[in-house]
This record gives sequence, structure tokens and C-alpha cells, in this order.
Amino acid sequence: MHSYDDQNIFAKILRGEIPNKTVTETEHTLAFEDIAPQAPTHVLVIPKGAYVTYDHFAAEASDAEIADFTRTVGRICNEAGLAAGNGYRLISNAGEDAVQEVPHFHVHIVGGRPLGRILGKA
Ligand code: AMP
Repeated sequence: MHSYDDQNIFAKILRGEIPNKTVTETEHTLAFEDIAPQAPTHVLVIPKGAYVTYDHFAAEASDAEIADFTRTVGRICNEAGLAAGNGYRLISNAGEDAVQEVPHFHVHIVGGRPLGRILGKA
């Protein structure tokens, strides 16, 4: 079960109730700058639909939403110069163990500096 809290901060961004620094917007997807960037490039990509986690999105989003989201993530990696440069990392936190702070599915695109190995200590 995935119960969606429509008061989460990304839902408020999607409704235009709080501002964001938009990187790109498509029919089904919004990408904006993380408010507390962890790297020179730190973009959050979210579907406009009400999905909590990656698995929720993968199970219940339409093919059009999934294609749009996936292509938007890839396009940003290219347009930010990361794909042709030194690379990037995609992160999607889900639930308590991953310390998901905002319960609206999102992918972090981070890059622009050496990122180390994938996991730190808990
Ligand atoms: P997560 O832990 O994966 O849920 O990450 C949530 C991310 O959202 C963090 O990196 C925050 O810095 C970021 N964040 C929280 N509020 C905002 C906001 N209003 N605008 C942009 N990014 C935000």
C-alpha cells in the first residue's frame, strides 16, 4: 500500500504553492534545483502524478509517464554536461532505511565533483 500525503513539500511545489528553481518541465515531469545542493549539480526530478516511491511509480504510473520521466532524467544528464563529462549519480531514496525525507517519488541527479563510493556508513 502506498498512501500519498498531498501536503508533502513536492506536492506543494507542483501546485505552485511554494517556489522552485525549475530546470525543465514536461507534460508529466518537473525537474528543479535541490534547495540544499550536495554537489555542483544537484537536480531533483519528480513525476507530476501522486507516487510515493520508485516501486509505486513503476507499478502504477502509465507507460507515458514512465517514458517521459526516464527520458527527462537522461536529457538533464546530457544538458548539464554530466553525461559527456565526468559522469553522475542517480539516487532515489524510499522509506525509513533510506531516510526518504519527502514522500513524493523523486530522483536526485548529482554530479560535478568526485562522488566517492555509493554508500556511506549508517
Ligand atoms: P530525500 O531524502 O531523498 O527525500 O531528499 C529530499 C530532498 O529534497 C533533499 O535533498 C532536500 O534538500 C530537498 N528539498 C527539500 N525541500 C525542498 C524545496 N523546497 N526545494 C527544493 N528541494 C527541496
